[in-house]
Formats: sequence, structure tokens, C-alpha cells
Amino acid sequence: MEKREKLYEGKAKIVYSTEDPDKVILFFKDEASAFDGVKKATVRGKGALNNAISSMIFEILAKKGIKSHYIRKLSDNEMLVWRAKPYGVEVVVRNVAAGSIVKRLGLKEGEKFKKPLVELFYKNDELHDPLICEAHVELLDLAPLEEIPSMKEMALRVNEVLSRIFSEKGLLLVDFKLEFGKLPSGELALIDEISPDSMRVWDAKTGEKLDKDRFRFDLGDLLEGYREILRRMEGL
Ligand code: UDP
Repeated sequence: MEKREKLYEGKAKIVYSTEDPDKVILFFKDEASAFDGVKKATVRGKGALNNAISSMIFEILAKKGIKSHYIRKLSDNEMLVWRAKPYGVEVVVRNVAAGSIVKRLGLKEGEKFKKPLVELFYKNDELHDPLICEAHVELLDLAPLEEIPSMKEMALRVNEVLSRIFSEKGLLLVDFKLEFGKLPSGELALIDEISPDSMRVWDAKTGEKLDKDRFRFDLGDLLEGYREILRRMEGL
């Protein structure tokens, strides 16, 4: 499957059309960005790592019956996916307090939640992705309201599957962000990527942060963290 024309370029990926109107190619760039694009850098090898990790995760989820846009990995930096109609909402699942919720609710970083928390955010960089509720999804027509419960259920299933696999590898899945859309078949599915750019993953023993927080807060070599996650996952 060959890349044709560039349809969209985002901060971390480029979307290309293919000869099949129902399929597109995601190209994972070697660009890191944080704080709504305010902090940026080129990180050689990041695209390939995110593609490898994301492909592996979508394959694991498919085996568990969790639908995504993933078809197959085409090359180091390219993934073939179904073309989807994206919803303008981000779904975040949290097991442990970190990031925006720590500031928003005055929690202590590292505090473990009694049960996973699911939150909705409006995907809008200019507004800094504000926290929203179902009423806002309806008001702004971000996604079909009747699909929100299915999205939340899928998000919790993803959390169960990934948390278990990660914990077997000595990794703690702190939180992650999912995006959803409608496939050409009409099915609701996970879209975008699931990678250390969109998750928080800590070493279960030492608490070392292995995800994009390394870049956000200059905690150490970004790729070392990503490589460590992939290395442990490959031992699945
Ligand atoms: N996240 C993401 N994209 C966003 C916002 C958040 O992938 O636009 C991920 C982030 O990496 C973390 C989780 O979602 O794993 C929760 O992020 P949070 O709300 O704490 O915001 P942040 O601290 O990233 O600003």
C-alpha cells in the first residue's frame, strides 16, 4: 500500500490517502511536542517507537475484541488504518493521580484511585482541551450522545487489558488518553495512537517515569523511556 496525497499533518503524525478510499496511512513523525505545541523538539527515532508500541497495543486489544482503526504496521514509521470519522472528544482513564487532575482537584501525585476514573475532554488546542461532561458533548455535537456509554465501557476495558499486561512487566499504567471515531463499516472504534505520548507509565518499583513527562519536564532521555516500555512489552 503506497502513500498518495497528504490529507492532514498534525504535531506527531501525517495522514496520507491510499488507492483505497476507505484506508489511510499514518506516518509517525520524529517530533515531540507538549503544552499544546508550546514546547517542541525533533527526537530521532521517536516515530518508529510510537508506531511499534501503538501497533502492538492495537493488536493486543484486537485479540480481546476491542475494535480500533488499526489494520497493520507497514514500515518503521507507517501504520495502515481504516479511514474514520473522528469524534471531537478525548477520553482519559486514570488509575493514579498525575498531570492535570493533580492541579485541578488538589490531589497528591501518585495517589492511587479506588476505581479507575473516566473523564471527557474537548479536543481543542486553542482552548487547551477543557474538561467537559456529556451535556457539552451534546451542545457542541462532538460525538453521538448515545455512543458515550460505549466509549466509556471500551475505555475501561482497554484499561483492564493494558493495566494487567503492564503490571506483569513491572510497569504501572497511571493514565492514558483515547480517541474514538466511526469506521467505514459504521462501527465505533479507537482511532489515533496509544503510545507513551498519550499514556503515563511508571516503573512499578522505582516510580521512574518512562513516558512523555520526561520531555514535558526534562526528566531524562525521552527515547530511553519509550525503548524501555517497548523492550518490556516485547517480552510478552
Ligand atoms: N493526553 C494526551 N493528549 C492530550 C492531553 C492528555 O495524550 O491532549 C494524555 C496524557 O499524556 C496523559 C493523560 O492523557 O497520559 C492525562 O493527561 P492530563 O489530563 O493529566 O493532562 P496533561 O498533564 O497531559 O496536560
